Amino acid sequence: MAGQSVVIVGAGQAGSDAAAALRSQGHTGPITLIGEESHLPYQRPPLSKAYLYPTGGVGLVDLELRPASFYDTQGVELLRGEEAVRIDRETRSLGLRSGRELRYDSLVLATGARPRKLPVPGAERPGVFVLRGADDAEALRQRLAEPDRTLNVVVIGAGFIGLELASTATRSGHRVTVVEAQPRVLQRALTEEMSDWLTAEHRSRGVRLLLRREVAELLGDGSGPVRAVRLGDGEELPADLAVVGIGVLPNVDLAVRAGLAVGDGILVDEHLRTSDPAIFAIGDCARFPSRQAGRPMRLESVQNASDQARCVAAAICGTPEPYTALPWFWSEQYGHRLQIAGLTAGHDRTVLLGHPAQARFSVLCFREGRLIGAESVNRAADHGIVRRLLTSGAELTPEQVAVPGFDLKDLNRQLV
Ligand code: FAD
Ligand code: NAP
Repeated sequence: MAGQSVVIVGAGQAGSDAAAALRSQGHTGPITLIGEESHLPYQRPPLSKAYLYPTGGVGLVDLELRPASFYDTQGVELLRGEEAVRIDRETRSLGLRSGRELRYDSLVLATGARPRKLPVPGAERPGVFVLRGADDAEALRQRLAEPDRTLNVVVIGAGFIGLELASTATRSGHRVTVVEAQPRVLQRALTEEMSDWLTAEHRSRGVRLLLRREVAELLGDGSGPVRAVRLGDGEELPADLAVVGIGVLPNVDLAVRAGLAVGDGILVDEHLRTSDPAIFAIGDCARFPSRQAGRPMRLESVQNASDQARCVAAAICGTPEPYTALPWFWSEQYGHRLQIAGLTAGHDRTVLLGHPAQARFSVLCFREGRLIGAESVNRAADHGIVRRLLTSGAELTPEQVAVPGFDLKDLNRQLV
């Protein structure tokens, strides 16, 4: 297996990490990595954070996952600006838009996801931005850097993109309004306690955060740039620019056309194999059986993309292990570091540690008396310990945590 040919579609976090993991796990055969973007594979997280500050000094070169020399020295053929358009499963070949055909023994789909479109009139006007790739971020950075002007920025969606952008735009001196259809921010990802804390934090920084409100239209003159956002109740929010962050859709077209099993993501088994045993799918585009959630799901995170890259490399190298990695996430807003360990959705009890008023606390989440995850603000040690507890399967009950004087660090010492 070590000498067989591997083709990877998608040169993002998952695709680039898979190429690296294949080599570090002993794969000696040809590896081809195909990316439709013109850039070297890069990290996306800074695009909504440090990269957006006009004077932040962060350039795209700082975000590259690996230098160009890595692909040369590791014998990874990186095809940039190339789109894979067709899979022929009979002949095990992949067709590129340029007309080139590539043979594979194993094919890895790491095609990521794309922003959901806002289904209202005016959503395509100039001045309406999305934030997924480096080119999106560069366009937004230039707009936010307009000299000596306080811009009215309307952010649609209070998910990760929306809140991180609200933070960076506010700190750059702009007037920000966030419109969210749900009753609370990051409703699907966070506990009510953390949503409420973030809401208060944004409002205290001057963000106008509108919950349970829907966008009806983006207004402008003729087909000109956006100048206001009209809400369902008729209110008009002045807008020099609008940013839409209402979630993503997995890139599954290639898989659908090839007849692979798909349903909100490319369906894979515990070894990340699709319904065709020669084809794998990883990262944002893959729907896998999650041990932590107890059901199939997609995860949109760097941790998941990287850990699945290592898992798929092991399967291709002939040492398959089921994918069981613990999910974890992070965000940065107003200089606060939010870290999430495990999957906290479905908890039936929470216990608070620390001090929300001082922006140093953790919300520990339990289901049926067992710890399932934790959300921490500026408490990196709590986050690290909870990750260790969840990975090792150590028990922790809400009753133990609720005892006065309880300290996670004591528990950590027992684990050593
Ligand atoms: P991607 O990184 O999207 O890469 C997929 C690549 O495949 C793309 O370059 C795409 O152009 C290419 N592609 C698709 N189809 C084809 C085709 N047919 N042919 C050739 N190429 C193709 N996660 C965190 O954990 N923490 C964060 O703080 C965080 N911040 C984020 C901030 C932003 C602004 C964004 C956009 C995402 C953030 N994420 C964060 C999410 C994280 O970046 C993604 O989960 C991760 O990038 C997924 O990796 P991936 O390789 O699956 O997909
Ligand atoms: P997201 O985190 O899924 O949040 C989208 C939010 O917009 C949800 O709260 C959603 O509500 C809401 N929404 C949907 N339709 C709306 C509408 N018409 N009007 C107003 N609100 C609406 O997605 P995202 O923020 O767009 O981020 C995109 C991707 O980048 C995700 O994969 C995300 O994980 C990733 N990202 C991650 C980080 C991080 O981990 N720190 C940072 C930035 C980006 P519903 O839940 O009801 O749909």
